[in-house]
Amino acid sequence: MNDLGGHNKITAYIKRTVKRVLSHLNKSVHDPIWHKVHNALPVASCIVLGFLMITTVWRGLSSDVALDMYVDGKMIGVVSDVSGSVGAIAALEADISEKVGVAYKFDYEIEYKFTTARRRDVLTASECYSILQQYAMNEVTTAHALYVDGVIVAANQDEEAIAGVLLSIERDMFEKTSTDDKVDAIYIANQVEIKEQYCLNQYIASAQDIALETDDLDFAVVKTETEVTQIPYDTVYVKTECYYEDVEFCAVAGSCGEQISTYTVEYVNGREISRVLNDEYEVLTPTAEVIYQGTAPYPKTVVTGRFVWPTVSRHVTSPYGPRGNSHHMGIDIDGNRGTPIYAADGGVVVFAGPEGTYGQSVIIKHDDVYSTRYAHQSKILVKEGDRVYQGQVIGMIGDTGRAFGCHLHFEILKDGKDTSPMPYFAGK
Ligand SMILES: [Zn+2]
Repeated sequence: MNDLGGHNKITAYIKRTVKRVLSHLNKSVHDPIWHKVHNALPVASCIVLGFLMITTVWRGLSSDVALDMYVDGKMIGVVSDVSGSVGAIAALEADISEKVGVAYKFDYEIEYKFTTARRRDVLTASECYSILQQYAMNEVTTAHALYVDGVIVAANQDEEAIAGVLLSIERDMFEKTSTDDKVDAIYIANQVEIKEQYCLNQYIASAQDIALETDDLDFAVVKTETEVTQIPYDTVYVKTECYYEDVEFCAVAGSCGEQISTYTVEYVNGREISRVLNDEYEVLTPTAEVIYQGTAPYPKTVVTGRFVWPTVSRHVTSPYGPRGNSHHMGIDIDGNRGTPIYAADGGVVVFAGPEGTYGQSVIIKHDDVYSTRYAHQSKILVKEGDRVYQGQVIGMIGDTGRAFGCHLHFEILKDGKDTSPMPYFAGK
């Protein structure tokens, strides 16, 4: 426009000058000078035409091939090449994206048409950017953007409207959930932020639409939970001389106590994310278990090498040795049924049970040489493997096996062979 304006001014100036000269000539048509001027006219015309030609050529020489740039069909200016304007668009897209927090695309139809233009009429990059920016800024408004986990989901001019939507979402969820479970509170678990900033118009949403945009939020559910746990009982060991040293038994059975703990538990999508203990109290006190452990040493079961009388009664009804045409392998000692039979010396029970004509019989091995047998018992009080001490009650007098009346048949076996017991009672 400036270029054209300058050219027109010059033309108008020439026209005005010629007019003035001609009017002057008309006035003095009879002037003798007019003839001189008339003769000089062709020369002046040549000068004017030459000047016009020079300016035209100058214009031509100072012009470049360029592009008219159109945005949505409207010419916005001349650019030297496509890459310059593409660069301006890219820079604008980056700047607007940063402002609005989402990827912005300059979505207008861009066209170019070849033209020639003087260099000074070609848009600089920043001029091109400014013109395009006016388009972009039409798509942007200052508003409050709602970010969920760092991503803009909607925007609204009214910050409180957004906060209200979030609150009502939480309240609705609470009402829905609290009916089927004991829930203390529900809140949105996502990272939610409201920031005032430039927003793309397309993100501006009504409260109702914001609610729809935020339908896949995560919710934290806060519950009070009660847990009943057992309190373990202690075990107390009581040492006592009342029992032999290998005796151990439970005198009082232990029982666990109970405690109730209340927790504030937070779940997000059903997954527990925190548990805080609020209170803990005992509802049942544990009872300690009492175990008695005997400390009394056992009476010696070692072989004393001497034998004591195996019954209270000392009345021998049948001595050791020949009896009719047989051999009596021990002595028979009179005694009432049920009276105790004592081990004649310490040792190990190697047999306890029915033994043919002996009836209920016990054999105690004292050492590698001596054993004793106690036959016809009504009841045996030891078992095979028991260690017994001298004088220990091992059974009761009876008449089991081949026996006529209740008595104890007592044998002393030396190297497995019977021997007369009587000399042993007097001391070896
Ligand atoms: Zn006998």
